[in-house]
Order: sequence, then structure tokens, then C-alpha cells
Amino acid sequence: MKSESSHKSSRLRQQAEGLFPGGVNSPVRAFKAVGGESPWLERASGAYVWDVDGNRYVDYVNSWGALLLGHAEPRVVRAVQAAAAAGLGFGASTPLELELGEAARRAFPALDMLRFVSSGTEAAMSALRLARGFTGRDQIVKFEGCYHGHADSLLVEAGSGVATLSLPGSAGVPESVARLTLALPYNDRQALARVFAQQGSRIAGVIFEPVAGNMGCVLPDPDWLADLRRLTRDAGALLIVDEVMTGFRVAAGGACQRYALRPDLLVLGKILGGGLPAAAYGGRRDVMQKVAPLGPVYQAGTLSGNPVAMAAGAATLRILAAEPDLYRRLEAAGQKLETGLREAAARAGAPVCIQRVGAMLTVFFTSQPMVRDFAAARACDTAAFARFHRQLLVQGVYWPPSQFEAAFISTAHDDAEIELTLRAARPALEAAYSV
Ligand SMILES: *Cc1c(COP(=O)(O)O)cnc(C)c1O
Repeated sequence: MKSESSHKSSRLRQQAEGLFPGGVNSPVRAFKAVGGESPWLERASGAYVWDVDGNRYVDYVNSWGALLLGHAEPRVVRAVQAAAAAGLGFGASTPLELELGEAARRAFPALDMLRFVSSGTEAAMSALRLARGFTGRDQIVKFEGCYHGHADSLLVEAGSGVATLSLPGSAGVPESVARLTLALPYNDRQALARVFAQQGSRIAGVIFEPVAGNMGCVLPDPDWLADLRRLTRDAGALLIVDEVMTGFRVAAGGACQRYALRPDLLVLGKILGGGLPAAAYGGRRDVMQKVAPLGPVYQAGTLSGNPVAMAAGAATLRILAAEPDLYRRLEAAGQKLETGLREAAARAGAPVCIQRVGAMLTVFFTSQPMVRDFAAARACDTAAFARFHRQLLVQGVYWPPSQFEAAFISTAHDDAEIELTLRAARPALEAAYSV
């Protein structure tokens, strides 16, 4: 289990560095923030992934949260195979879109109507365009440390890889575009109230992660959630809940169910596609009726509603609906991991702050009792996190390679996998602060 060999991974990495920027096709995969060598993976099953050198890891990345049922869940794989054999895509409507669309609406009653797209980025970008088209306003409000994909106007003070690489935003985003996005501190009721008092009538929409996952796992203050709903409604702005990460993860009906949120627009992705590229935006009927071809807000996609992706999503949602016990089991696994990590940290004398909602969790390397916003997340000891990460990897645990990401538990993470993780966590937590 100990990853002794990395010979093939090293060779592939060298080849990749000449072909892909940074050797990767998405920045956080490069392990730049944690150092060490990223293993190249070639297969996976349940809670485990294997690299090209034959090392096995318990996986807490789970395709960055897109997998809730573990890797290569047999029923999902069979549905994908059947759909693929019937045609990889048509560019015309198929019954599978209805099946997944109806299942999404059963889980999220806020979805009067929805539109499928292929990535969370595309869904969030389209929801913003719709909010602007519907309200006739330009200004968007987001929160520092939240990530909504890489559309220009959403890269301001963004989380995920932007935070991991310590970038203020992205080059190539025109100042004139960035100016239309106001980034406020997460959970800050005063800042929110001030912005609405000063310019509420110019705000098209407020987009937020209802549990932040892209600065590490940060829980929402219920009063702040209530303010978001009240202030947007009073100002005629749309409340856009980005559930790309939390949807189907923190509950069957996502954070909307868990926190009784009533959004105007909702963004879904990741688990919705069951591991394949599918995402969606949707919400109030009067708003969605502005989308082309019904309305004037244009948005389209060659691969939107792709039948193979729809089949993976539909099979996943079918399993979630058929096994109501599943979220209780995920909660129990999350609780066991959290408790074990706390005990291990106490024994190692490692100051950490562990935050979790259901099947997403972050170990913040800090002595702060709570991380409520991006400033607190950024104050964490990222070098200690990097040592923790490297030590876990050597012991066969694949933890997300950034302090600013959540670890994801799947239904395939059983007692044996959690115990293996906790055995690895003890020396990793000791290593974290020993320089
Ligand atoms: C992952 C993520 C996105 C972006 O989705 P992609 O499919 O990577 O484009 C958007 N919002 C949130 C909250 C996410 O976690």
C-alpha cells in the first residue's frame, strides 16, 4: 500500500509538461501547492484509486466531488454502457433528459424549469447572464473564497485553484468586467446590508455557495442566509444558489433542503452528471422563460443533455432516491472520520480546526477555533497542510492537494477505509508541524 514506486508517473509527468501547461488539464491537479509528485491514475473502484505504478490509495478527491457512490459504481457503469451502445449523442432531444430533469426537480422543488449544460462553469455563467437579462441590471455580488467556475466575472476573489495558487484573480479578465462583480466577505451580514443599502437597485443577482467548499469547508451562518433571501427579494435582485458541489451531497435536496433555502435560480453540476460532464441551471418559471428559444437570453451547447452523461446522472439519482438510508450512512462515515481526526490531532498536539457538513470535510491547519470566511482560511498554515498531505499520500491516502478544498466521502468509504485513513492521519498530523 505504501507508494514505493513512482517511476511511470514520473515519466508521464515529464512528457505531459511539454504538452499541457503545467503538465495538467486543470490547475489543482499539478500538486503545486503541496509539492511532491502527483501520481498518475489509471483505474478506480469504490473508495480506491490505483496509479500507473500499481500503488493503491483511499480516495478523498472523488473526481472533485462529482462521485457520491464511489468509483465505477456497477449500476452507473451499466447505464453508461447501455446509453453509449445506443448512440453517443444526437444533438436532438432524448428521453433521458426528461428522466434526469424530473429527478433533479423532485430533489430540488425550486426548479420549476431547468436547462442542461456540460459544466458547472457553463451553468453558473449562464445563470448570471439570465439574471442580468431578467432584471436588466449589470451588477453581480459574490463572496470571497467562493468558486463558481472560471467565467470572467466570477474569477474575482475566487476560491479553489485561484486561492490555491494565491492569485488575486485572473489575468485576461478586463477591468471593465471585473468592476461589475462585487466580492464581499462570506458570512458578513454588515457588509451585505451595506452593499444593498448603497446600490441594491443596481444588483442583478447574488451568487453564493450555500456551504462553501472551495476555500475549504466553511459553514453558512443561518442569519446571513436569511439576510441574503430578504435583501435580494426586497431589492428585486435574484438569489442564485450554487449547489454544484453541495447538491445531492449535503442532503438529497442539497443545501436548499438542509437549510430551507428558497432560491430564484439554482446551479447544479458534479453529482448531477454521475461522474460524466453534465450540469444545469434552473429555477423560477418566470425567469427561466427568458431563456432562448422561449425568451431573449441566448444559451446553447452542442453536447448539452448528452445521452451518455444523462444516463450516468439518472442512474446515480435513481440510486439516491431508492436508498433513503444512504445519507444517514454518509453522515455516520463523516462523523467517524471527523471524530478520529480530532482525536489524532489532539494526540499529535497539532492545532487544527476541522469543519464538516455531511460528506464534505476540511482539516484547517490553524489554531483559530472556527473558519468563517476567506480571510480566516487564508491565515492557515499551508506549509503544515502540505506536509500533512505528502505524508498521507505516502501512506496510501489521496487527500485533495490544497488547504482550500474539501475532502469528499463516498458511500464506498466503509469502516475499513476510514480506519486505514485514521491510521495514516496520526503520523501525518505529527509530520505537519515538525519542521
Ligand atoms: C466545481 C464547481 C464549479 C465549477 O464546475 P466545473 O464543472 O468545474 O466547471 C462551480 N461551482 C462550484 C460551487 C463548484 O464546486
